[in-house]
Amino acid sequence: MIKNIIKNIYQIDLGVVNCYLIDDSGALTLIDTGVDGAEKKIFKALAEIGKKPTDLKQIILTHLHPDHAGSAAVIQQMLNIPVYAHYTDAALIEKGIGMREPMTRTPGFISWLVYSLLLKKAPKTITPVSNIIKLNDEQVLPILAGAKVIHSPGHSAGHISLLIEKEELLIAGDICMNTNGLVDYSILYEDVTLAKQTLKNISKYNFKIACFGHGKPVMSSASKKMTEKFS
Ligand SMILES: [Zn+2]
Ligand SMILES: [Zn+2]
Repeated sequence: MIKNIIKNIYQIDLGVVNCYLIDDSGALTLIDTGVDGAEKKIFKALAEIGKKPTDLKQIILTHLHPDHAGSAAVIQQMLNIPVYAHYTDAALIEKGIGMREPMTRTPGFISWLVYSLLLKKAPKTITPVSNIIKLNDEQVLPILAGAKVIHSPGHSAGHISLLIEKEELLIAGDICMNTNGLVDYSILYEDVTLAKQTLKNISKYNFKIACFGHGKPVMSSASKKMTEKFS
């Protein structure tokens, strides 16, 4: 299922996770790729907006987890397109490692439930992705007049969020989530202290809209709402 967030940015809802699509004058960038096998759903979503798989020109991965990087290798191989990730997670993605362990579960019943039902049994490996183009903090990619890479470690050491400055829109990844109508901590973090620092840091950027790996986008005053929640 594909939803238009703003005119050239879409959310592809894959059930367990969202990925995002940026249409820059017809050249499509896919942000995250869902779990292993998700390429079929992604291509179906493209068809819903009249696009073809070959319109995809590049993939950016927010982090190494199998629900985000799971089908990157197969899409890369099918279309022969570049894959970008922060160098810290790229090193593991290239080896097929989809998780650093142990991770710390956020306290609370919902978190326990999701962890017990879904995450505990989830795969920890991915099909290795070769020749990843490594990204650095504050690097600006030439997408929609500038997409700023923000290194946002804590959920994973090489996690990145992407700020589309012109649109005041943040693709946050898994630094937090919005699954029950309120922005909240993600279920799992590699480093809780670092994750909390990241959430404080990122809330200082100015963005109206925030999009997450899990849950619905926040469509107004997003940086303000995140500052209130996480400061
Ligand atoms: Zn994750
Ligand atoms: Zn995730």
